[in-house]
Amino acid sequence: MSKILAINAGSSSLKWRLIEMPTEKVIAKVAAERIGQAIGTIKVVGNGFKVVREMPVPSHHEAVQMLLKTLTEQKIINDFSEIGGVGHRVVAGGEIFHQSTLIDEHVLEQIESLAEYAPLHNPAEAEGIRAFMAALPGVPEVAVFDTSFHQTLSEVNYLYSIPYDYYQQYGARKYGAHGTSYRYVSQRAAELVQQPLQDLKMVVAHLGNGVSLDAIKDGQSYNTSMGFTPLAGVTMGTRAGDIDASLVAHLQEKLNLTTEQMIDVLNTKSGLLGLSGVSSDMRDLLAKEATNHRAKIAVEIFVDRIVQYIGAYVAQLNGLDTLVFTAGIGENESEIRLRICQSLGYLGVEIDEEINAKTRGVEQLISTPTSKVKVLVVPTDEELMIARDVVELGQIESQDLKVAHAQK
Ligand code: AMP
Repeated sequence: MSKILAINAGSSSLKWRLIEMPTEKVIAKVAAERIGQAIGTIKVVGNGFKVVREMPVPSHHEAVQMLLKTLTEQKIINDFSEIGGVGHRVVAGGEIFHQSTLIDEHVLEQIESLAEYAPLHNPAEAEGIRAFMAALPGVPEVAVFDTSFHQTLSEVNYLYSIPYDYYQQYGARKYGAHGTSYRYVSQRAAELVQQPLQDLKMVVAHLGNGVSLDAIKDGQSYNTSMGFTPLAGVTMGTRAGDIDASLVAHLQEKLNLTTEQMIDVLNTKSGLLGLSGVSSDMRDLLAKEATNHRAKIAVEIFVDRIVQYIGAYVAQLNGLDTLVFTAGIGENESEIRLRICQSLGYLGVEIDEEINAKTRGVEQLISTPTSKVKVLVVPTDEELMIARDVVELGQIESQDLKVAHAQK
């Protein structure tokens, strides 16, 4: 048995899961929040215990030290040698990283060099990696990239219709996001319908606060709705999704904003929040749509854009076998799933409304036996995917794993 840490580092937070492999059991959820502020929080939560401490957490390095210390104090681990490997979620892998990668100094420098593709994420993630390398020397560290799953897109799907030079000189192309989620969900959906993923034409709808869709063909990402950054695609909680670039320039001038401020409006004040003026949270909008026109229209636009993308992907895939819903809204909001599926009747999609209404946060086939497309809910598990990659790349306890797989 080995314990793996799956890490998600933000600019002022560090969240981890400690997962026992090969059993894939989550032992503890660990978080440091408000790093660098006057008072931060350290949280360690597991089966039957919860530790929450308010204290200054000056940097990612200190956060790692404090959290590791809490793990041993609480006897969740006896000593650090039990940690077999550490996996880090990294948002941008550019064209350099096509798959998860063992981290050395060179890889770390490359992650830092990709900061211009994800200025809010890559630097914080690199700092998190450095903090773990210092705290756990000799333990394999693996980077798992949100973009790598989409490196299978063809030029036709990743190029923008702008001068080709800009792609060559500045990396101006579609990179996509949510790749770790898509990798997990597509594999799991194929297992649930008991067909090889390679044989399925699949669309996965990752409907959370960030929203994207992925068309999967031959077991690979074929097209995806996010773009150069996660701002593109459908309407999201606070992000605008696709928009005419000239309108952005026009508004920037009218509002007298810098480019950075304009992008901030599109990232944080748009989407469901900007349309409704009520909330970015789908639960609030569904509660208010009967009485609030802007909440109603926000939900309608949300559903409509998703239906448009699914239609486009069915055309590109030349058919559809499986449609999968995941993430906060996809896993929990049966009403949104129903409205999307009702617009897909032309494809032969039929939902069992009773089963759909009861399905919240669990794996479930929600289409009828006669539906031409199998429709599923599959809760995403990016941390588990990260832990699996760490085991594979770190060659951790591979004997244990072989035995476990042979017994399945
Ligand atoms: P995520 O980014 O995956 O956490 O998803 C957040 C979105 O999921 C928000 O719009 C929430 O309103 C929506 N949601 C609906 N039901 C739930 C639930 N039970 N738990 C978490 N998110 C939910």
